[in-house]
Amino acid sequence: MKEKITHLRNQFQEDLKQIQTTKDADQLQTRYLGKKGPLQELMMSLRDCSSEERPAMGKLINELKEEVTLLCKQTIEALDQAETAKRIEAEKIDVTLPGRKRFSGRKHPLTLLRDEVIQILAEMGFSVQYGPDIDSDYYNYEGLNFPPDHPAREMQDTFYISKDLLLRSHTSNTQLRIMESHKPPIRIIAPGTVYRNETISARSHVFFHQVEGLYVDEDVSFSDLMSTMDEFWSKLFKTKVETRFRPSYFPFVEPGMEVDVKCTSCHGSGCRLCKHTGWLEVAGAGMVHPEVLKNGGIDPERYSGFAWGLGIERLAMLRYGMKDIRMFTENDLRFLSQF
Ligand SMILES: [Zn+2]
Repeated sequence: MKEKITHLRNQFQEDLKQIQTTKDADQLQTRYLGKKGPLQELMMSLRDCSSEERPAMGKLINELKEEVTLLCKQTIEALDQAETAKRIEAEKIDVTLPGRKRFSGRKHPLTLLRDEVIQILAEMGFSVQYGPDIDSDYYNYEGLNFPPDHPAREMQDTFYISKDLLLRSHTSNTQLRIMESHKPPIRIIAPGTVYRNETISARSHVFFHQVEGLYVDEDVSFSDLMSTMDEFWSKLFKTKVETRFRPSYFPFVEPGMEVDVKCTSCHGSGCRLCKHTGWLEVAGAGMVHPEVLKNGGIDPERYSGFAWGLGIERLAMLRYGMKDIRMFTENDLRFLSQF
């Protein structure tokens, strides 16, 4: 019996030397002190001892049990401390390391250009007004001299929500609202998003951005429109530019014009930017049609006005030499971070 006890003690000492983690130590403790463990087995085998021998052997087994319990406890504590220290060391923050780079947000190129356009026109005395994106047929078309079934409606493929409700196809829908609520002189610009039911391609999109300008007062003449265009485009291109007016047709102006600016890249000799014409098409414009003034409650005998509109995407593509309008909406950071 005594030999068995000594053997188990030696065996435990050997096993203890192999322990490396608290998990190992836990398992060792369970194995030796558990109900089916070797110490319990020894206790059971006391039955086979003589009654004289039994108390002394029982004492020896209890001593071994206490020894095993204590050593397991100490080992677990020591290993636990070491493991905690190691974990803390691994999690230690090195305050001398460089921080992670934070990317700051920035304005979208279209917003930057729109703000620039607004800034220039505000300095020229125009105030900013906003019309609704969803509007009635009247403000977008009929009141602007596009009668029902007028072929000019076909020029702008429109998203209709109902028979009378649509997504505005141009920012000109702001014109009548302003005329109804303001007395001349009216000097406003209306920036905003416009919608067209077109196939998305490099050159066209289902939505884009316009800035509309409107000036109504007594004695407003075509030369006022020309000088306003000269000044605005020169300020935007940051150089004195030459403008040219070509007759065009928009139902809400008479006469209607396309405004061209002499190519800022080749100065008229022809290049890829201007498609070798020497001119860049930059805006639509004209004198406000008397019918439109009437619809806005303004006497066309007393007042006259001009209006023009430009596309922000078109301008941005000219300025940055871009060939694909889709880049503005693809959210590619490699593109957006250049501005
Ligand atoms: Zn050119």
